Amino acid sequence: MRKGVDIGGSFIKVYWEDGRREKHYIRDISKDRELFLQRIREIVFEGYPSSVGIAVAGFTSLEGVVYKSPNIPALNGVNLKDILKGINVKVINDVSAGAFGEWFYDHRESRVLLFVAVGTGLGAGLVVNGKPFLGACGSALELGHHTILLGGERCSCGRLGCWEAYCSSYGLERIYKNLSGEDLKDYQIIQRAKERETYALEAVASFKRFLLVGLMNAVHILNPDRVVLGGGLIDAMKDLLGNLEADLKALCESLPAECFSLNFSSCAEYCMARGALALALMDDI
Ligand SMILES: [Zn+2]
Repeated sequence: MRKGVDIGGSFIKVYWEDGRREKHYIRDISKDRELFLQRIREIVFEGYPSSVGIAVAGFTSLEGVVYKSPNIPALNGVNLKDILKGINVKVINDVSAGAFGEWFYDHRESRVLLFVAVGTGLGAGLVVNGKPFLGACGSALELGHHTILLGGERCSCGRLGCWEAYCSSYGLERIYKNLSGEDLKDYQIIQRAKERETYALEAVASFKRFLLVGLMNAVHILNPDRVVLGGGLIDAMKDLLGNLEADLKALCESLPAECFSLNFSSCAEYCMARGALALALMDDI
């Protein structure tokens, strides 16, 4: 039996080959490195799986070293393959895993699939000819940190004007605050937009403009045949975004515009664990 494991800042999620799903709360131990690594070992080894795909939120090298994980600092510098010796593991950035899961389960006919997940932050992954595209060292597709506005708002990475600084939960909250002066959580802004509050509708419109420009850049650079949008914030907002596919195509050059279709992911919160499982199921990756 194989499984996929998604290591996040608050939960470790598991997706088994037979469809079982589990969620382990880990926020209370995620700052204590030894306790946290011990918990990861227990969860990964449980059931003695023959192969495990591991998705990690953060910069993850091809060798399995977590270089920088803003939400899980206890993992910084940890070589996951080393601490999980004795079991066959594949370690990958969480959104790259999510992208692979999209291709494996829902879009097998795609040759170049771009997956963009917007939630707490913004992550992306690319699958080319049935394989995750990870770059030379494992850090490809950090689209959340491509600059969309020189000298713009501060991003979680410290730079100014990144795509994530606008298209993320904290990005939307800041856009709303700049317009209204009021501090609200993302879900409250979305609720107010559904109730047609002017500031909330303006904030969503501004979010959408940044979303479209970032996607246009990605389409012009990567020429995907499938763009899949996912993540908690997109799930919550998609009814407010209008015809995103038509709007994106209108912004793009005609050849890449004709080439892609835009879809919303349907796998919700187990997306990354599902992708990690898909990776564990493939013997040649
Ligand atoms: Zn950034």
